Amino acid sequence: MAEIKLSEMRDLTRIERIGAHSHIRGLGLDSALEARSSSEGMVGQTSARRAAGVIVKMVQEGKIAGRAVLLAGQPGTGKTAIAMGMAKSLGQETPFAMLAGSELFSLEMSKTEALMQAFRKAIGVRIKEETEVIEGEVVEIQIDRPAVAGAASKTGKLTLKTTEMETVYDLGAKMIEALGKEKVQSGDVIAIDKASGKITKLGRSFSRSRDYDAMGPQTKFVQCPDGELQKRKEVVHCVTLHEIDVINSRTQGFLALFTGDTGEIRAEVREQIDTKVAEWREEGKAEIVPGVLFIDEVHMLDIECFSFLNRALENDMAPILVVATNRGITSIRGTNYKSPHGIPIDFLDRLLIISTQPYTGDDIRKILDIRCQEEDVEMSEDAKILLTKIGEDTSLRYAINLITSAALACQKRKGKIVEMEDISRVYELFYDVKRSTQYLMEYQSQYMF
Ligand code: ATP
Repeated sequence: MAEIKLSEMRDLTRIERIGAHSHIRGLGLDSALEARSSSEGMVGQTSARRAAGVIVKMVQEGKIAGRAVLLAGQPGTGKTAIAMGMAKSLGQETPFAMLAGSELFSLEMSKTEALMQAFRKAIGVRIKEETEVIEGEVVEIQIDRPAVAGAASKTGKLTLKTTEMETVYDLGAKMIEALGKEKVQSGDVIAIDKASGKITKLGRSFSRSRDYDAMGPQTKFVQCPDGELQKRKEVVHCVTLHEIDVINSRTQGFLALFTGDTGEIRAEVREQIDTKVAEWREEGKAEIVPGVLFIDEVHMLDIECFSFLNRALENDMAPILVVATNRGITSIRGTNYKSPHGIPIDFLDRLLIISTQPYTGDDIRKILDIRCQEEDVEMSEDAKILLTKIGEDTSLRYAINLITSAALACQKRKGKIVEMEDISRVYELFYDVKRSTQYLMEYQSQYMF
């Protein structure tokens, strides 16, 4: 069997997990933060979505850094979907990092290092830079010194007015007309044919000696004076602390950002970066943008991880932490103590808890409709009714999973629309949890202990 690297496997599960939520584009709330029954890919689960919306609002107003939210509910009730919806409605610039509790237990790095990297992936740094911006589209041309006699000697002052600046050149009237359609940059070399008035932009790296002759003696060159079109402008870049860590970590190099294979990052590197970022903040050059860190399967975390989280949340740059679990009262990993959701009481006490409720048949039907559209699968009304029924009896996730496989079954029989027979076929091929457990119980004696 071909060897699959651990990091590749992790990437595949990540893609699978994100793909399942590709239809989620926000929380689907109106301006009063009320949940629309179906909007932005979100269906039902209205009170949880409303609560999530209030938290998003608080994050946007900078009022919730360092707090944590727990999404608690049965499997497949949309906890991950709501976390994704929160991230989407926070906007492009807000960093969002996501990991599952089980991912922390890898051979490549310690649990706390993995958590630290996840935290720093969810902290953005908005770096402001003053830079020379020289591009501008010509929006207005005017001649303010009218010619005295004859077209040939018609000269005027050309004012290039861009949206932000104004520059004046002495040029012929015809040339002015042509130049109006061009985009110019400071430092551009523009060739002007005196006879026709034709203007050609040659670009900045124009080699005058070689190209001058080729253009003919009638050509006049105008070098846009450097600096004239320039204006200082603030340019803002947004990166995450983790990206700065990786770029500055000599052992990894920046390419690790693309492979995701960052390994452990030394504590000294992070200390230096924190000091640098603190300096930039003091000088007004940088701002911290706390993002969202989503940890699914939080019951997989052990005491060591929880105490790391407790400490990390105290940091003034901490992102908002959203954790999710589908467990009830269960053991805290690595101990004999039982606790709600497998979360230690002191940590639980910090959490704002949002619970998700089981879906009604109507909700399941709407979600299946959206997923069929998302996966480009055409399904007959009967098949949808059957699939909804299956979703009600088993789980939403199982029903969603049957969409693609039923579409394949349909393709195999050269059909165009998924029918009930395709759904029944894949229902027989793939077991849901209930039937699988039943099967196990019946044939228990034939399995190894
Ligand atoms: P688990 O506890 O097993 O991790 P979960 O509560 O995180 O489950 P999701 O993975 O969010 O459940 O939901 C299962 C599938 O149903 C996903 O594809 C998700 O996008 C979709 N889904 C769940 N709730 C909604 C909803 N309210 N609107 C639209 N799609 C939803």
